[in-house]
Amino acid sequence: MSDIPVDQFRRLGQGTVDRLARYLESLESRSVLPRTRPGEVLSQLPPEAPEEPEPWEKIERDLDTLVEPNLTNWQSPNYLAYFATSACGPGIAGDMLAAGYNQVGILWRTSPVSTELEQGMVRWLVQFAGLPDSFDGQLADTASTASLIALAAAREERFPDVRKTGLAGRPPGVVYCSELAHSSIDKACVVLGFGLAGLRRVPVDSQFRMRTGVLLAMIAEDRAAGREPVAIVGTAGTTAVTSVDPLTEIATICERERIWFHVDAAYGGCAAGLPEIRPLFMGWERADSIVFNPHKWLFVPLECTGLFFRKMERVRRAFSVVPNYLETPEGASGVREYMDYGIQLGRRFRALKLWFTFRTFGLSGIRQRLRSHLALAQDLRTRLETIPGIEITAPVLFSVVAFRWVPGNDSEAECAEINRSILERINSEGHYFISHAVVCGKYMLRAAIGNIRTESSNVMGFADSLERAIAAESSDRSVRSSRN
Ligand SMILES: *Cc1c(COP(=O)(O)O)cnc(C)c1O
Repeated sequence: MSDIPVDQFRRLGQGTVDRLARYLESLESRSVLPRTRPGEVLSQLPPEAPEEPEPWEKIERDLDTLVEPNLTNWQSPNYLAYFATSACGPGIAGDMLAAGYNQVGILWRTSPVSTELEQGMVRWLVQFAGLPDSFDGQLADTASTASLIALAAAREERFPDVRKTGLAGRPPGVVYCSELAHSSIDKACVVLGFGLAGLRRVPVDSQFRMRTGVLLAMIAEDRAAGREPVAIVGTAGTTAVTSVDPLTEIATICERERIWFHVDAAYGGCAAGLPEIRPLFMGWERADSIVFNPHKWLFVPLECTGLFFRKMERVRRAFSVVPNYLETPEGASGVREYMDYGIQLGRRFRALKLWFTFRTFGLSGIRQRLRSHLALAQDLRTRLETIPGIEITAPVLFSVVAFRWVPGNDSEAECAEINRSILERINSEGHYFISHAVVCGKYMLRAAIGNIRTESSNVMGFADSLERAIAAESSDRSVRSSRN
């Protein structure tokens, strides 16, 4: 028995590309959020796999009826929720080839090209972001995994040989981050045995940046109580409002206190390729580890995260476990074996889709696209400022606009209720998809620009839709208040 005949594969592959091309062409006419209820897709699947082979035509029909109507269309130019991540054509091609070549990047010899292209792409990203050449790294699946790997290296640095003997008998380790840091840092603390109690969330200032004075007080308090500071995580582009922690100050504290400095720039770091944005990142070149996601805002399909270390050897020290059957002469002579630098043994050929993306657009094309998103965000902010009652709730540093509608002197709770209702009105129409965040007790709405297909018409169309939602909300409110 064998795989399907190559000719059949050729037809199947061509049909798949045609389907994707049709999909990309039809994005504007599709509702961003699917009209489906929890369980609806599952209930249409047979409970068991088919005993006998099924024809491809039947599978195709399910793509039309079951899959495509139930996609959340992240690829849509009207997608403005969370961070608008998108996959460009060259990136999609790279991922398809990666699936076909099926390289398993355990060792250099299990895929020399995957290993070395990854090293090359790390160099390109380091250069693009304006980091010192001494940074080396890898392409991880997600920022969540990358921060876990980085903090594991920090743990090994603070508690040498913790990988051998575990945490028992050692002082409790503490990680610091701002109250707006990403939940992946909490998860890393869970996995690494610090527990959520070992994560200190430092309050932020009026610009949503970590308050380093409070950070210092927390460190002193922890040391006095016999706890060991392990790492400080600075966020460059917080998920809620894209604020940037004072990285230079944090770097100085880390150097003085001998604490690992990790920078989570999952979204924001992508824009470090723009010289005019780079000053926001000042200080990150002094970090021990940095993460940012080409899959978030460099148009590379999920999953593609850049994880960089000032001293690559430190992460190897935390993770290298070489079973005898994976010992190689190259490995012994120091050639890069990527299994030594993280959790995964087998790794996908992720470099390919990044390579295609950078080469197809060129750095100039990437920069142009980033700049257009930054400009669209400023245009949207300006437009929203003309709507009575709209408050821009955070500085627009990148391509996310955070705002809310405050019609009168409503309480925080009422304000949250009103804006929740506006969010529901917009999202249930299906044309646009936005999200929300609660920051320092304030409920706010977010429009995140970042999809490679998003243009001015999409952003202004969203502003119109917001105005309609506000008008509807406003008239419902006056009806309600006249009844009372
Ligand atoms: C999106 C985001 C993450 C998580 O990214 P994944 O790649 O999905 O794990 C982590 N940190 C920040 C600041 C983010 O915005």
